[in-house]
Amino acid sequence: MITPETTIFDDLESNVRGYCRSWPAVFETAQGAWLRDENGRDFLDFFAGAGALNYGHNNPVLKTALIDYLTGDGVTHGLDMSTVAKRKLLETVRDTLLAPRGLDYKVQFPGPTGANAVEAALKLARKVTGRQSILSFTNAFHGMTLGALSVTGNAMKRAGAGVPLHHATPMPYDGYFDGTTADFQWMERVLDDSSSGLDRPAAVIVETVQGEGGVNLARAEWLRHLASLCSARGILLIVDDVQMGCGRTGPFFSFEAAGITPDIVTLSKSIGGYGLPMALVLFKPEHDVWSPGEHNGTFRGNNPSFVTAQVALEHYWSDDVLEKSTGTKGKRVAAALNDIAVAAPGISTRGRGLVHGLVFDDASQAGKVCQVAFERGLLAETSGASDEVVKLLPPLTIADDELDHGLRILGDAVETVCS
Ligand code: PMP
Repeated sequence: MITPETTIFDDLESNVRGYCRSWPAVFETAQGAWLRDENGRDFLDFFAGAGALNYGHNNPVLKTALIDYLTGDGVTHGLDMSTVAKRKLLETVRDTLLAPRGLDYKVQFPGPTGANAVEAALKLARKVTGRQSILSFTNAFHGMTLGALSVTGNAMKRAGAGVPLHHATPMPYDGYFDGTTADFQWMERVLDDSSSGLDRPAAVIVETVQGEGGVNLARAEWLRHLASLCSARGILLIVDDVQMGCGRTGPFFSFEAAGITPDIVTLSKSIGGYGLPMALVLFKPEHDVWSPGEHNGTFRGNNPSFVTAQVALEHYWSDDVLEKSTGTKGKRVAAALNDIAVAAPGISTRGRGLVHGLVFDDASQAGKVCQVAFERGLLAETSGASDEVVKLLPPLTIADDELDHGLRILGDAVETVCS
């Protein structure tokens, strides 16, 4: 039903239903795993800002730090100036994230969004190697700007560019064919055979779990094979951890479980902690070929984000408690989804850490399930090439009873739609 509010949004906000989110509510406040609309109705949030709210809405620890910073007139807009907030963040990245993992990366602030991080990564790889093309994967999603979109494997998103995008070479993601290493034999042949017409690429860009692409999981051995294929040929490996980083799959970096060390890592979404815009690109020191000013931007120095990012890293990642609890909660979700899938024909499930998908043979059912779940107080969205997957991304800090509550709503919604 059209309400006065939706008319305002539909009339004035261009492209308002452009993403798959069409929840007919006007949200006002949010806390933890909950959103409240202007009529006082509460919704459990299994969408969590598409992975930007791993620590929940208005996380109290981060909120206190932010309020203290603002109350003390801390610098808010810092361009690329050195600030105390930035120094503290860089020290914490070094001491909490990199050093304990034996990682040696330089840190770049590429601009506020995930797409900014991807653009910087693609530019850097091309500049380092002097090569042009990039390999990316079927079902990949890397962002909406021209470079990021050119390595995105989604026809609908690509159509937003209006005309054909510049060149990127798509490769089959893990499981695209038969889930064996046959994919690699083909890839290696194409790369090494001069008759294939493929120039040696600058980089391969990959998500370890494709979030927008339908919760597709790359196996550890597949990722290791990819990493060695790249290093044997001097191709840089970019892991896009914008959605799957910051603990979504368990460890802070999603590639840790595979034991690989990418040349370049992109982070955004939950790296700022509080849902405020921020992104990072991490890259090996020997690849620091930027000259000053070659990749900058007005909002690279969002200091309030630096504050919440630093406190989030210190608070949640100086030990492995969050990682462990994500593992336990993930098993809880997997078990519940398995029960749902067993009870309803034409549904399967897959996931890792706290990203899970319910996969529907009949794609139209996935959207209906999200709609019914919304009516019953749960926010979840679809993903995948045909929107055939209900994707679940609850905050990592969600309580067990909240998780169970949301899973019950989801199970009931599936029953309603599929029986
Ligand atoms: N990379 C990945 C893996 C993503 O999931 C996204 C956003 N869904 C992006 C890049 C782009 O991030 P942003 O929307 O902040 O530009």
